[in-house]
Amino acid sequence: SIMPATLSAISNAARNGILFKGGVHIENLSNVKAIALDKTGTLTNGTPHVTDIHFAKEIDEHYALQVINAIEKESTHPLAQAIVNYTKEEQRRSDLLVENMQEEVGKGVSATIDGDNWVVGSGNFFNQRSDADWYNAIAEKLATEAKTVVYIAKNNEVVGLIALKDDVRNDTIKAIQSFKKAGIHTIMLTGDNETTAQAIAEEAQLDGYIANCMPADKVTEIKKLKEKYTHVAMIGDGINDAPALATADIGIAMGAGTDVALETADIILIKNKLKKITNAIQLSTRMNRIVK
Ligand code: ADP
Ligand code: MG
Repeated sequence: SIMPATLSAISNAARNGILFKGGVHIENLSNVKAIALDKTGTLTNGTPHVTDIHFAKEIDEHYALQVINAIEKESTHPLAQAIVNYTKEEQRRSDLLVENMQEEVGKGVSATIDGDNWVVGSGNFFNQRSDADWYNAIAEKLATEAKTVVYIAKNNEVVGLIALKDDVRNDTIKAIQSFKKAGIHTIMLTGDNETTAQAIAEEAQLDGYIANCMPADKVTEIKKLKEKYTHVAMIGDGINDAPALATADIGIAMGAGTDVALETADIILIKNKLKKITNAIQLSTRMNRIVK
């Protein structure tokens, strides 16, 4: 049976925008020594916008934008939605035949259009042809500006780059500072590339980060953290975070997250406010004192 102190703490938390799926999680929260956080949608708003776009000289930009629009229309990823919003009305063509459409979580989307294989996604999603390197310096510069770089490849040749910026949530830095003040190690786990990850981790003032982190890698990192810190929480919002949320001692989902994340998590931040976790930890500490 659930203790009265636990019950009152749960209802107190719910009024404050934190939903606990059971008393045990509120009891465990004060033991957490490390918090792993996803980047997109967790540390950041999750509403990226296109800032830059570059095409190789020989490319028909109008056609390439039609292709990109047709492919990303099929994806629900925040980057895809931003790219679809960016491509204008005249670039929307319903008569383009998109075949073999495939989405790989944490990497991007590919499809066949007019006999060509197109890829829209991260740099490690396809085998980049080494002779096509017009874009390397541009991609690196965009990443140092904390922008996510999405590659456009046609038959494995990079023909374009789209940069997107997703701003750090306005309560992120304060939340991270309060975790650190409570002696909690903070680390970002992201599918994004090394340079962008570093720029965001610095902006958010995290203790560390792991880039190019696929869903299975996020699980591996949580297991490593559990060995080192014993009690580990993971905060995320995406399908790609669900396995890691399940592996952590406490899985925390952003309220605006995907259904899978919300179902898997032990705690839900209804209003997407990271800072609420600090209040919940204090609540947990106080409650454990009363219970013991
Ligand atoms: P995060 O861990 O930051 O939430 P994801 O794991 O969802 O990010 O995605 C990692 C990377 O994969 C993105 O930075 C992007 O380069 C690429 N990517 C994934 N899905 C898409 C998509 N639909 N369109 C373009 N790029 C994508
Ligand atoms: Mg995310």
